[in-house]
Amino acid sequence: MNQPSLPLLKVAGLTKRYGKYEALRGVDLEINAGEIVALMGPNGSGKSTLIKSIVGLVYPDRGSIQIAGHDARNGTVYRRVLGYMPQVARYPETLTVGELFRLLTELRRDCTEYDRELYDELRIESFEHKQLGMLSGGQRQRVSAALAFYFAPSVLLLDEPTAGLDPVSTETIKAKIRAEQQRGKAFLITTHSPQDAMELAHRLVYVYEGKIRIDAPLEAIMAVSASGSLMPAIAWYLQTQVER
Ligand code: ADP
Ligand code: MG
Repeated sequence: MNQPSLPLLKVAGLTKRYGKYEALRGVDLEINAGEIVALMGPNGSGKSTLIKSIVGLVYPDRGSIQIAGHDARNGTVYRRVLGYMPQVARYPETLTVGELFRLLTELRRDCTEYDRELYDELRIESFEHKQLGMLSGGQRQRVSAALAFYFAPSVLLLDEPTAGLDPVSTETIKAKIRAEQQRGKAFLITTHSPQDAMELAHRLVYVYEGKIRIDAPLEAIMAVSASGSLMPAIAWYLQTQVER
């Protein structure tokens, strides 16, 4: 069993190459129960590759990943504790939304606890008879968000959950993240939105060219800059606090 003090997610020395290109260059990261970590960095810096490596969609070349005490290299049991919201979701186009949820519920016989809260609050029922291929971008994203939480995981990996989403759904998802953090879940959330990071996260991890350049409490980052806004604070932190 996990003690709350043990990291729910532990990544060490993670390296990933796509051909000659090194997308991750030795990433170390730990996230504890009840912690929300914002993962930020420019496009192409390796955020999605890191998340996909943890989920098991990308095979790292080196390094280790432990999730709730399971080594990700030993079987796939660890995936049961993971909730994943991809940046771009691919679904079977001709299935309906309702069929997708039923299918995944069938496949997840191990699961005894379901969390339908986002399904209801994001009003997915209102389009559950639609085929997945016919959904608008926002509807697709709501499906992905509801699925990430649906099997009551203890570690959630959300890849740009609010990008391009309407404000009401965005607030609904943020409230859900906060509520589940209170229940001790661990979050790694990719975002380009300083507002989302400031509102949700305790810690900020900033990646650049496949390396973590900042891993610090948001307060500490904000404290080094007088600007009061996050992006200038990150830039200033990189210049003044990070050893090269
Ligand atoms: P981010 O999510 O931070 O925008 P990604 O992790 O998606 O970045 O990508 C990191 C780098 O790896 C980029 O240069 C991207 O082009 C490259 N990359 C990502 N996926 C693949 C892939 N399947 N094959 C080759 N290169 C890839
Ligand atoms: Mg990405």
